[in-house]
Order: sequence, then structure tokens, then C-alpha cells
Amino acid sequence: MNKKKAVKRNRRVLSIAICCILAAILAGVYIYAAVLHSKKDVERLRDLKKSVKEYLSSHQYGQESWWLRSSDMRGGDNIQIAAKLTDEETKKITDMLYEYQDVSPLAQKMIMQTLDSGMHPKVSIYQRGDISMTFSFKKEEMKDVAKMLKNSIEICYIPKDIHDNYPASLSYRSDWNALMIKGINWPPALYAGLLFHEFGHYYKHKIEGANSATAPMTHESWAEEEVAMHELEAEVMNRATKGRLFTFVDSLNRRYEGIDKMPKHLNGLQADHFFHLDEIIGCQSSSNEVNSVAISQYLFIIGFRYINERIQCSESDKMKLKIHLYRWMQKNLDRL
Ligand SMILES: [Zn+2]
Repeated sequence: MNKKKAVKRNRRVLSIAICCILAAILAGVYIYAAVLHSKKDVERLRDLKKSVKEYLSSHQYGQESWWLRSSDMRGGDNIQIAAKLTDEETKKITDMLYEYQDVSPLAQKMIMQTLDSGMHPKVSIYQRGDISMTFSFKKEEMKDVAKMLKNSIEICYIPKDIHDNYPASLSYRSDWNALMIKGINWPPALYAGLLFHEFGHYYKHKIEGANSATAPMTHESWAEEEVAMHELEAEVMNRATKGRLFTFVDSLNRRYEGIDKMPKHLNGLQADHFFHLDEIIGCQSSSNEVNSVAISQYLFIIGFRYINERIQCSESDKMKLKIHLYRWMQKNLDRL
């Protein structure tokens, strides 16, 4: 009986030991696979960053692109610049907004509730410190400045001499309700796209009073608004390039399929692909000022287009995937 008991106990110990060994082997395989997988992800990200660096360094000595050099607007050439701001730039912005008003229902709504409702772009120049100087009020308008300001969409140009004080090349400044734009010669297709992106933030904040406009950056609605504006921007840029942009981006994205390929679908992107996008957008010989903005837009367009065209799921699930990808890019590609 004792012998039988001992055999039984030995068997139990043996089976426990076998289970432990199997578990250890499985854990080992899992950890090895995870390490191997993450190593591949790290390598992929490194390759992507390398392609982006190669792209940016080739634009290091691009054409000087500033048309607004000085914040000092007294006398000389600056009188002509002030004239350019009041007439040319106001017209350019207005025409551009009307030209692409029908790219999406959001764009239509934005134009209908601003320009079509009597609001007009008014241009100004960013000055040292926290002030801007408005040029575009005509004498008769000065009688009722408060009313004019209320109906104005401020477009504030940042001059070269103080642009280092300002973090973004093109952005929306919510405390001024102003679109801040560096005074450089933007390639038209990129400019139109960026303008709609920032005008979209203006619209969400000033006109719609959307929660997303004032939510902290960590909030889902904040990211949702960013995704919406990047998609609006992409539609505008695609229209401006007569569809060539999406045709090329879709050909890149056809290499992969399925949710498990994100963000691996960015794998294998070469500087040559970005140069081809430059050719489509019209910024082959631009300087770093332009191309460092362009490259971020290329990556966002490739990413969101991949989700729209290559993944089958509901619109709300697509939005979740886009937010996830946006956060991933923000975390991994912000400092290239
Ligand atoms: Zn944005």
C-alpha cells in the first residue's frame, strides 16, 4: 500500500515537473517571439526615420522661400509688403477657400458659416512679443473697428526675422482666433491643404464652439478633431493635384492589407517615395521650412488612406484606428 502511495506521489511530482518545464518552454518561446517582434518593430521605425532624414537632408539647401523677411514695417520696401498683404494675400486666401469649398461636407459647412455669412480674412503681421499689426482695414471700416474685428478671420503672417520665436509654420492660435502662417512661398497644393486644416480648427473653435477645440491634447475628442482636419487637408491636396496624390498613395498602400499590418504599412517607405510626392505636390526644390511640414503630411495621408481603403470595418472603428495611428506617429515620429 505504501509502495503504491509512493509511486502515485512520484507520478504526481513528475507530472507537475513536466507541466512546469512545458510552461517554462512556452514562456521562453513567447518572450523570444515578443523580443524578436519588438526588435523588428524597432528596426522598421529606424528604417523609416532613416528614409525621412535622407529626404530632409536633401532639402537642406533648397530655395530660400521667405517673402516676408522683416517684422519692422516702417518705410521702404515694407510699404509694398503691406500693400501685398492687404490686397494680394487677402484675395489669395479668399479665392483658395472658395475654390475647395466642395471637397467635403465639412468644408462646405465651414465656408457657408464664415465667408458666405459675411466674414472676411483680414491680414496682419506678427510682431516681437505677443502682438500683431493689422493692415487690411480700410479707412471707412475704421469707424466701426469692433464690428469689423468680429466679422474678421485674422490671418497673421510671421516674418523671417522673428520666426524662431514661433513654433509652427502654419497653425491656429486660439487666444487670438488667428491663423498663424510663416511668410514663405508655400507650394499652392500644400498651402491650400494646410490652410483648410487650420481654418478647420478655427471653425471648430470660434464658430462651432466644439468641445474638441478646447479639450486637452490627451483627450480622445482632441485627437478626433486632428484626424478630421488631416483628412480634410488630404482631400484638398488631392483635388489640387487632380487626384494624383491619392493615386500614388494608394499604390504604396496596396503592398499591405489588414489591421495587423499597422503601422507596418509604413515599412519600406523610401526617400524616393517622398521625392515623388514632392513632385506631385510641387515642392521638389523647396527648403526645409516647407519640406519638414510636407513630410509629416505625407505620412499622415499614407496612414489614414490605408485605413480608409484597405481595412473593412465601421466608420467609428476606422476613427478609433486612425486615432491610434495618430498617437503612434505623434509618439514615434514627432522628433525625426
Ligand atoms: Zn491640427
